[in-house]
Formats: sequence, structure tokens, C-alpha cells
Amino acid sequence: MSRKYRVGILGATGTVGQRFSQLLEGHPQFEITAMAASDRSAGKPYSEACAWKLPGHIPEGVRDIVVQPIEPPLDCDLVFSSLPSNIARETEEAFARAGYPVISNSSSYRMDEDVPLLIPEINGEHLALIERQRENRGFTKGFIATNPNCAVASFAPPLAALHEKFGVEAVVVTTMQAISGAGYPGVASLDITDNVFPYIAGEEPKVETEAQKILGKLTDKGIEKADFPVSAQCFRVNVVDGHMVSVRVNLRDKATLENVITAMRSYPSLDLHSSPSPFIEVTDEPSRPQTRLDRDNGNGMTITVGRVFPDNIFDYRFVSLSHNTVRGAAGCAILNAELLVAKGLI
Ligand code: NAP
Repeated sequence: MSRKYRVGILGATGTVGQRFSQLLEGHPQFEITAMAASDRSAGKPYSEACAWKLPGHIPEGVRDIVVQPIEPPLDCDLVFSSLPSNIARETEEAFARAGYPVISNSSSYRMDEDVPLLIPEINGEHLALIERQRENRGFTKGFIATNPNCAVASFAPPLAALHEKFGVEAVVVTTMQAISGAGYPGVASLDITDNVFPYIAGEEPKVETEAQKILGKLTDKGIEKADFPVSAQCFRVNVVDGHMVSVRVNLRDKATLENVITAMRSYPSLDLHSSPSPFIEVTDEPSRPQTRLDRDNGNGMTITVGRVFPDNIFDYRFVSLSHNTVRGAAGCAILNAELLVAKGLI
């Protein structure tokens, strides 16, 4: 490795921004050189602007970086964006137009036809959309690539394994999503303590549509989405990190329980710095996965699946768990960037 790519974080002071700071400390390919956030934070050193909420200290390398407004230019080669979706659309386009690769966590561009929605282990070939995006939007060096909603990140991988081997026909999911998924300060303590909250604004439509794009086929005309319906109910539950999803699925082709488990266990990981091994862990323990015990598997990048059984109404049911700010946000975005480097697109 000759030199490290210089990275800027948009929304650096937030829940996902802090996870970027933590995960990029000592990264062999990327080094944070710029931080940007709202007017509240701009002009202050990161250590002052940021109410650090992760275990351990703010990484030394970023403590003194002065937070800037979310406008280009920033002193970096690419940007990771963890901005609220209402401001991400305009800002991310401005950075892409100014020549920066933008790797985004927000929902603003995920479903645009010329924007890749990536889980690198599943659909790296969707990066071919970047060329079309540049033509459509007049970007020269810059582009936008996105990673999925944090609950989708938890159940799309086992579905991908099943879809590849047997074809997925229909899916019902019930999500149990962590408090950190709402950012900081997020959900009021009186709403979530001793409670399960059956509403996450705007979440169910995302959970019902994104997996079909991720599992879609790249064609000359763009992504042909996978043809199955997803029905979702999304709940906020009283855990800090980790999104658990209960999944019921119908398959197009017959599959035994052993076939289903083998398909998930053998779904390959990649050989990138942040790739976990395995990508999908299937546990036989009757009481796992558990959010607190399993969310950090594979440094938060492994998807842990358990309770895989034939179902009385659908073909199979299982429970899927992943870390929402790692696999569901910053970790997946970093893996996307590692893939983009490997493919020569950064
Ligand atoms: P958050 O904790 O509320 O952080 C928001 C960040 O955006 C902060 O750095 C904040 O800066 C900045 N910001 C807010 N309003 C701004 C404005 N008007 N101008 C410039 N900067 C502004 O939220 P988060 O949980 O990190 O989520 C960030 C994005 O990632 C969202 O789009 C979210 O949907 C997505 N996402 C989150 C998760 C998760 O698990 N949390 C998972 C996947 C995707 P200040 O500190 O200066 O206010």
C-alpha cells in the first residue's frame, strides 16, 4: 500500500459519524482528514463538537480536526456521508458534482435507478451503475454509492443465500430495532424504557422495498428487481445496538431444512480488510441469536442467523441479527469503499 486515501465524514459528530471515526482508526487504506457537521459544530475541534457516546476515547487522530460546514471543497479524496436524509440529497449531489466519490448511509438516493445500493458480498456487480450515473447526471470523477437501511442489512444476506439457490417467493419480517438506530438523542427515554414502540417513522416502506433492489439482476437497462413481496412491521425495542429481525419466507423451489441452512452457511464472504468470516453465521443454539451476545460477531460485520425451522404457514422461518451502526451503517460503507478501491473506482 503506497498511500492512504484521505477521507471526509459528513455528519461526523452523529451516531454513525462516531462509528466511522472508531472503525477507521488504524485502517490500512483510509485516513480521516476532514470532518463536517451542522452550524452547531462547525469551527470547533471534533473532541469539543462531538458528544462521544461509544465505549473508549475519541481516537487521537481525529480529536483536533476542526469540524467544517457540509460544503465542498473538503481536504479529502472521498466522503462518507451520515447526514439526515432531508439534507443528504442536496449535499451529496454537491459533493459528487465537485468530483468526490460519496459513499452514503442515508436513504436519499438508495432507490434511484442509477445509484448502486450495495451489500458488497451480494451485489458488487451493481457498481456498473456508476458509469450510467455519471452520464445521466453529468458527474465527471464523482459519484454516489449507498448502503441499505440498517434492518434490511440484517435480513437481506440470508435472503440472498436462499434466493440464489431456491428463489424467494414471499417474505414477512418483523423487526426489533435498537435505540441507536434513531441517532442521538433519538427516542425519548420515557417512550422506550419498559416499552416496545410499534412505530418507526418512514421505516416500513424502506424495509419492504430495498432487499428486492439489492437482490436484483444487473441488465443493460439497469437493475431488474427481484420479484417477491416483503411485508414488514418495524418495532423499536429497548436495546442500545443490534437489529434483530424475525423472518418467514416462501421459496419457489423445494428445499429441505438442511439445504436451507447449508445455503446460508456457505454463502461466501469477500477478501477485503473489513470482510467478516463467516459472512453469515448460522447457530444451532436454541436460544440464539441474542442481541447483546451476538451483535458484535465478526467485529459487528457478521450476520447471525438462528431458530431456522420449517413454518406452519410459510416454508421456513428464522431470526437474523446484525449490528446496526456497523454492518447496518459505517462498517458496510467502509466495506463498500474497500470494494470500490479494489475495483479501481476510487
Ligand atoms: P445523528 O446521530 O442524529 O447524527 C446526525 C449528524 O448529521 C450529526 O453529525 C449532525 O451534526 C449532522 N447534521 C444534522 N443536521 C444537520 C444540518 N442541518 N446540516 C449539517 N449537518 C447536520 O444521526 P445518525 O444516527 O448518525 O444517522 C445519520 C444518517 O445515517 C441518517 O440518514 C440515518 O438514517 C442513517 N443511518 C443511521 C443508522 C443508525 O443505526 N443510526 C443506520 C443506517 C443508516 P451536529 O452534531 O452538528 O448536529
